Amino acid sequence: RRRYAHQPVFLQAVEEMAKSVTPLFEDEVNGEFYKRAFLVMTEPERTISFRVLWQDDRGDMKCNRGWRVEFNSALGPFKGGLRFHPTVTEGVLKFLGFEQVFKNALTGLPMGGAKGGSDFDPKGKSDGEIRRFCEAFMNELVKHIGGNTDIPAGDIGVGEREIGYLFGQYKKLSNDNDGTLTGKPLILGGSLLRPEATGYGAVYMAQIAVEREGGTLKGKRCAVSGSGNVAQYAAKKLIDLGAKVITMSDSNGTLVFKNGMTLEEWNTVVEIKQKKRGRLSSLKLCDQNTEYIANHSPWKLRDLKLDYAFPCATQNEINGTSMDRLIDNGLVGVFEGANLPTTLAGQKHLREKKILYIPGKACNAGGVSVSGFEMSQNAMHLIWTNEEVDAKLKETMQAIYNQIDNVKEGGECTLEEGANRAGFLKVALAMKKLGWIW
Ligand code: NDP
Repeated sequence: RRRYAHQPVFLQAVEEMAKSVTPLFEDEVNGEFYKRAFLVMTEPERTISFRVLWQDDRGDMKCNRGWRVEFNSALGPFKGGLRFHPTVTEGVLKFLGFEQVFKNALTGLPMGGAKGGSDFDPKGKSDGEIRRFCEAFMNELVKHIGGNTDIPAGDIGVGEREIGYLFGQYKKLSNDNDGTLTGKPLILGGSLLRPEATGYGAVYMAQIAVEREGGTLKGKRCAVSGSGNVAQYAAKKLIDLGAKVITMSDSNGTLVFKNGMTLEEWNTVVEIKQKKRGRLSSLKLCDQNTEYIANHSPWKLRDLKLDYAFPCATQNEINGTSMDRLIDNGLVGVFEGANLPTTLAGQKHLREKKILYIPGKACNAGGVSVSGFEMSQNAMHLIWTNEEVDAKLKETMQAIYNQIDNVKEGGECTLEEGANRAGFLKVALAMKKLGWIW
């Protein structure tokens, strides 16, 4: 704890995981081994840190910091996204890499966990600046990645455009076409349904969990935060299933759809976010159904009546006070599209009030699963149809739910604990068989 006091969000991710796995340390046969394994798992195998020098449109030299945290390769090559955002630090990427290890284990695919990125802020940059930054970033990253070693993907601030530029530079420098980097544009070997996968997967998971309890998403008031890749497709799938999407947001404010978002409104949001890279505040949607509230996330709104929450923006969006109020306002389920969007205090309220809760590492695993499918398609030099990918995505989300439900039933724990324990046990076993922990 003292050693990493300067990385609070990493410590938070480890603490959340520790809450679920420490009961396993009491096991008479394997308890001591699990304890040692968990401690080893909190250290990344390797962290690469580097400077990124690039030129802006005025011809000035700019310097950013870049990292790749290769956390754990017991189950397969390192795999995880790249984040470009001014709040990125080594500690943030360590938290994301740590989560990724267990998430990838839950998918059942042979993938280790990693995360990378830069404190570069893509907002307000021209297309040329984005391209030059991506090329400069790849000039160093290329030395550490490859189709059988480390396969990066996108995350906040890194979408298809950035992956395209990164892949372009990777191909030039490596003279290789091994599909390294997933989330590629379709024409460059990307998978159909990859953009949709994380959001759709989170809603499939919600549907499975809600129906398991005898409920339905149909007609339910669902609050979504964010309006990026994950949020857009979570909202779309919720609308398709007949749920009422009552919010979407960005870092400047929240759009409230009093009676639920229509498909036309969804198209308008996607147009402004994907094509124009604009702000929700600039949308001309204000009619009886919609209201824009500046400087508030959905979780800070006092009178928001809701059934289910889908936090899909960033870490630590929902704190204890907000969670308490959301529960008072009718919240009965939380499905995390983002990584670690709920603070430790927020999670405590969920446990105490026995709210249906699926944490990010299980709920948002659809994205990396389809990235895994992209790797398979690249290796086989073929393209699966939309229907094939969607069917495999649904199957994967069901299989993840079954794993965590099995652990829950066997260990009399919550779904949150079931998810954390199932991922941990898989990685621990792989590390033992490799002779990496004994
Ligand atoms: P995007 O960059 O596409 O969108 C991020 C959204 O969150 C934007 O609406 C952004 O608002 C908002 N946001 C970002 N940072 C903040 C902040 N500090 N405060 C408030 N709002 C913020 O990213 P993704 O949709 O890809 O990722 C969202 C989350 O989902 C992240 O936690 C990511 O790690 C996780 N995730 C993503 C996966 C994927 O496949 N993309 C897979 C699994 C998890 P603005 O536009 O104003 O910046």
